[in-house]
Amino acid sequence: MRELVIYNTLTKKKEIFKTINPGKVGIYTCGPTVYNFVHIGNLRTFIFEDLFVRFLRYIGYDVTHVMNITDVDDKTIRGSKNENIKLSDYTYKYKKAFFEDIETLNIVKANYYPEATKHIKEMVNIIKTLLEKGIAYKTEDGSIYFSISKFKEYGKLSGFNPDELKDGASGRVKLDEYSKDQPVDFVLWKSYNEDDGDVFWETEVGKGRPGWHIECSAMSMKYLGDTFDIHCGGIDNIFPHHENEIAQSKAYSGKDLANYWVHSAFLNVNNEKMAKSKGNFYTLRDLLDKGYHPMAIRYSLISTHYRQPLNFSEELIKQSQSTLNRIKEFIVRIKSIKKDKTEINVDDIIIKSKNAFVENLLDDLNISPALAAFFEFIRKINSKYDDLGKDSIEKILGFIKEVDKVIGCFDHLFKDENLDKEIEQLIKEREEARRNKDFKKADEIRNKLLSKGIILKDTKEGTIWEKI
Ligand SMILES: [Zn+2]
Repeated sequence: MRELVIYNTLTKKKEIFKTINPGKVGIYTCGPTVYNFVHIGNLRTFIFEDLFVRFLRYIGYDVTHVMNITDVDDKTIRGSKNENIKLSDYTYKYKKAFFEDIETLNIVKANYYPEATKHIKEMVNIIKTLLEKGIAYKTEDGSIYFSISKFKEYGKLSGFNPDELKDGASGRVKLDEYSKDQPVDFVLWKSYNEDDGDVFWETEVGKGRPGWHIECSAMSMKYLGDTFDIHCGGIDNIFPHHENEIAQSKAYSGKDLANYWVHSAFLNVNNEKMAKSKGNFYTLRDLLDKGYHPMAIRYSLISTHYRQPLNFSEELIKQSQSTLNRIKEFIVRIKSIKKDKTEINVDDIIIKSKNAFVENLLDDLNISPALAAFFEFIRKINSKYDDLGKDSIEKILGFIKEVDKVIGCFDHLFKDENLDKEIEQLIKEREEARRNKDFKKADEIRNKLLSKGIILKDTKEGTIWEKI
């Protein structure tokens, strides 16, 4: 097997993936800010990360996945004030919704979901050290900032050059609304002001609350160590969020925070940036309300390469649905194989398909050719259908289930199995009744199945059934 190669935003190239500890992977992914329902742009990132984690596990790594929950920031505080409820009650609602949404989309749960409000101590510790080292400074109002001029590597991830922001430079960017000494210095600790209401912590660095960036440094290092393997997010996280995480973490520990920085591209809707004002803004719930199957939505989000912009549309969900329907038809067809013995080498087809599937994913999660290899498998098997016997059913279905460990969209296509078994059993009973000339019972069984939407047809080869 080839080695896994992954595009590292830090070096701007594909690199062979090497772990810190043999066989183990520590991965940190920036999680939701729980002030609203997550939208499909967020979900695209979460599903790419799910694909990545599933694939790492599939190829044998013992993965520890950490995703933070941002449950204190300007937006959550504003939301709780607007509804006149406690911050924790406000964020609980959206935290719960987030977990429901990822379950609906069959996203494998992370090992840890640390919440910012429960890790203030860890954040304060880092801030204290940065103050002691003279890399952070306190302003008159008590807020604490990270001085990027004291960190020479600043800009390493994003290519951002702070000198360009100095006086006279054109196109000055507004980076952080709390910026102080330099426009790019970012806040580590926000001192209390009365807009924060009852949201504050009395700490060694003062009364207030943490900035957003420090959360991720504190929680990733706590659960994964000072340096871990992979840090993921959407490309909108690269600057300033991840640049700042890198700066404050390394300034604190003297070590690199993560070895591989992996980012998913944007999601557009109908070729436009998603925006509430344009009426093209979707949460998962909006799409479910329109009657789309969650797995058609998942398939739509997973089937474009993570570094390609994804153009989302309802048309795309419909195409995904018809792809899933084709796989379902294939499964049903395979289950109904009547011959006993297979006359072709199914193992050979499976091995070749599996190799192509895995090799493509090893190449920077190249999903399109990986899926193409899977559909080529279906096409090949379908074209040899008459040569297939019952001894191949488990092998063929087993391969679909194996692919699904990584893709995570097909499980429900097997879910009719119990129904299938029940139907087969009733058909047997009916045949026996007919042999015994118990036509009353035979009719009862036929009617019972009819009430379940199953119609029986007696043919020369025996009784077959169809869904109405
Ligand atoms: Zn983060």
